[in-house]
Amino acid sequence: MTIILFGPPGCGKGTQSELIAEKYKLKHISTGDILRTEMEMGTDLGLSAKKYVTEGKLMPDDVIIGMLMKFIQSNDASMKGVLLDGFPRTTAQAEALEEKLTLSNKQTNVLIDLRVNEEELISRMILRGKATERIDDNPETIKKRLQVYAEQTYQVKSFYQKLNKYVAVNGLGKIEDIFGNICIEIEKAI
Ligand code: AMP
Repeated sequence: MTIILFGPPGCGKGTQSELIAEKYKLKHISTGDILRTEMEMGTDLGLSAKKYVTEGKLMPDDVIIGMLMKFIQSNDASMKGVLLDGFPRTTAQAEALEEKLTLSNKQTNVLIDLRVNEEELISRMILRGKATERIDDNPETIKKRLQVYAEQTYQVKSFYQKLNKYVAVNGLGKIEDIFGNICIEIEKAI
């Protein structure tokens, strides 16, 4: 099973991913979390990621695709599949993912787009920036991340629409209500 949780920064992907991964026994792969761990550990990947993350820009596709493939490949027999959070973020990443899945006769089951308006996204990220150490939750970088989302990531939506794998879920409201609506879509797709 391959589920993609999609949406702009601050839409609640991280929170919902944890709930989904637990309920459906999926391996939660968050490219943002992986990069933050690499940055904390000071690895070569972390050092190169720091510049992009701080500036709110996307890491180059080849680096991110290579990194993601390693995580997808490392099989965990107790898991029923993967939940992707923060990947794919470009059409090239989506193509690479679907090519890889096709090699094992698989395809993404569904891409769920968590819809939240820009005003709410900004206020959520500002709040998170105050509560955590995230280097990119400040007004300037938030603006850049939203711009990058509109220019480079939003197009992933039409890629999955063409595959008939796209659904939108309202990302406003109570966490448990949003989760309930996501589960309805997952049940339809698996
Ligand atoms: P996130 O936690 O998903 O918001 O990701 C934080 C940052 O990590 C992004 O602003 C990018 O700089 C980088 N990043 C995460 N995932 C990707 C990806 N799939 N492609 C390129 N850059 C990424």
